[in-house]
Amino acid sequence: MKRGKKAALIIIPLVICLAAAGAYIYYTGTIGYKLAKLGYTKDQAGSITAIFSEEEQQVLLASPATPEIIDIASDPRYQKANFKDYLSGLQEGKTAETLLTDYDPRVVKLRAEKGYLEQNLAAYLSKKDSVPDMADQDVVRLVNTTLVYEKTEGYDPALYDKYEAYRLKQVQKTEGADPDVIDEALCAAVVKHVNTALPYSSEKYYIDAYLDRYEAYRAANPDKALTDVVAEVNAGIDKPFYTDIEHADMSKGYLVLVNKYYYVEDSDKPQTTALSGYGVGELESTAAEAFKQMVEAARAEGLSLRAVSPYRTWAIQNLFYTGYARNAGTAEADTYSARPGHSEHQTGLAVDINVASISAHFENTAEYAWLQNNCWKYGFILRYLPDKQYLTGYVYEPWHYRYVGTEYAKDIMDSGITFEEWYAFYVANPDK
Ligand SMILES: [Zn+2]
Repeated sequence: MKRGKKAALIIIPLVICLAAAGAYIYYTGTIGYKLAKLGYTKDQAGSITAIFSEEEQQVLLASPATPEIIDIASDPRYQKANFKDYLSGLQEGKTAETLLTDYDPRVVKLRAEKGYLEQNLAAYLSKKDSVPDMADQDVVRLVNTTLVYEKTEGYDPALYDKYEAYRLKQVQKTEGADPDVIDEALCAAVVKHVNTALPYSSEKYYIDAYLDRYEAYRAANPDKALTDVVAEVNAGIDKPFYTDIEHADMSKGYLVLVNKYYYVEDSDKPQTTALSGYGVGELESTAAEAFKQMVEAARAEGLSLRAVSPYRTWAIQNLFYTGYARNAGTAEADTYSARPGHSEHQTGLAVDINVASISAHFENTAEYAWLQNNCWKYGFILRYLPDKQYLTGYVYEPWHYRYVGTEYAKDIMDSGITFEEWYAFYVANPDK
């Protein structure tokens, strides 16, 4: 045997052995080996390895937290980009569940929302599952409020939108209040209010801000229909006439309400224009011009209109009222004459036409019929309607017209309600 052959016999197995040893050493340094040692089957190890990049596998080889992060990586919530965050989180002692939650993009977004409450997280996520299109902000608000409402007596889930609309309105009214801070006491008050308001929902002139007054009035008058309760409270008669009187809101201009609850001061004296040729006295200047046009229009149809009692000063009204009261007594005088300060005539916006007495039966004249059809074209309304004395405190006065301007006169005439009610709903309504 040649020497060369002998050497080959020794060297080749040696090389093979070294290669095998090398391969073995290499293998024990791979993730596959580590997974096998951790008890994963070959198939499992294969799919686990595929999750991690080469670089991550190197990190895992050196990490004692390998089984935990493999659990994390097998969860559908696993975020590849957060590999290192999971690992360092595990080293800090956080649980897999906490880490999966912390890096769940849905949770990250929710946590950034105003009003987010950690204790409601599971409820947010389940709401998001059931209504995937809902914005996170709405999810947070809806869950936060619902959980509080559900603890409130009388809560009806079908009325949720109504409760929320009312709650937000209340929050808006409170300076510095935050709609995303859900106050339990407020929610309880909201549920009570909305539930109480429910029977009124079909009332056309219902004013939410007056609910307590309606309820008090209804309690005192249990047989009254809701429509009447609303009308009467809106007109203000849940309080006796001339109680809690207030200065009229002059800022309302031609829509100012002057009655047994609202007065004008002597200093509220209007700019007036004489009605010379159209009757006696003066009216507020714009009303005076409108009145003259109205008289001309009636005249063109052969009808005669004339102011017999327009603007009155405080002193004149005082003279009128005290005269009536002396003769007829306060109670009766109050039904046809206003106490000083409380007469519309003092605004310069009211005018008695042709007559000023019930016995004259102005309502049977052609002039009255014409006024019914035309007064609104000039900005006037019939102020004291038939059968409404209980609301206005005044008998039917077919001769008494009130200037409100042309914008609303027709609406008011067509409404069939008293100016008190119309004003309450359309002008001074705190809900609007
Ligand atoms: Zn009058």
